Amino acid sequence: MVKENLLKVLNDIREIEKSCGRKEGSVKLLAVSKFHSYESVIEAFNAGQLAFGENRVQEADEKFAKINEELGEGKTELHIIGSLQRNKVKTAVKIASVIESVDRIELLQEIEKQCAKIDKKIKVLFELHTGEDSKSGFPDVESLKAALQYCADGNCPHVIPFGFMTMAPFTSDEAVIRKSFSSLRETAELLSKEYPEFSMKELSMGMSGDYRIAIEEGSTEVRIGTAIFGERDYSQGVK
Ligand SMILES: *Cc1c(COP(=O)(O)O)cnc(C)c1O
Repeated sequence: MVKENLLKVLNDIREIEKSCGRKEGSVKLLAVSKFHSYESVIEAFNAGQLAFGENRVQEADEKFAKINEELGEGKTELHIIGSLQRNKVKTAVKIASVIESVDRIELLQEIEKQCAKIDKKIKVLFELHTGEDSKSGFPDVESLKAALQYCADGNCPHVIPFGFMTMAPFTSDEAVIRKSFSSLRETAELLSKEYPEFSMKELSMGMSGDYRIAIEEGSTEVRIGTAIFGERDYSQGVK
């Protein structure tokens, strides 16, 4: 089932790219495997999917240790997409190649500290709060800009600012969702101009329920869980 779902989503992404006049392949797929088993990840990998997103560090660490054991180290790419506590950063930077959910300067400081220890550079996305009822992300453009300035001042040599991320509000009101995505795109355009020293091309936006709108609004990466792996069973805990 995972394979069929994955191929359907990929096909859908290509169709949407075409229908809104975007270049084929300009939108990447991040398969969000949180709450799903390691077997599901292997199934997706066997169907050609390489990039996976997880929002809880401990779950990701356990699952991807097994996956690396089975497939060999470095075959998959892991992105941390959930809000990150300081005490989880050490493990997060060890296992991930991108942290998509940077939402405060203190987190940047901890990422820098832990990356320096293991001599690793890591890509980060700056998460912006763009909708009324989403709680995660920098609360406004000013605070996000302060974090970028902190990097521009040379405080984080191991951090590579790579783009922006947002979650649209949970609503069926398409106009509200579209506004959330377009405001991230506008912010990204503005800040990319202000900080040309960083190549912040990534716009991570769009989930199972709203990725069409996100692609129409310029997303370069959609983060999709349910449409690939099915509903999450929160009662089972970590598998
Ligand atoms: C869970 C999650 C997703 C995937 O959501 P689906 O609706 O299952 O596609 C995407 N982004 C973030 C930040 C998530 O936590």
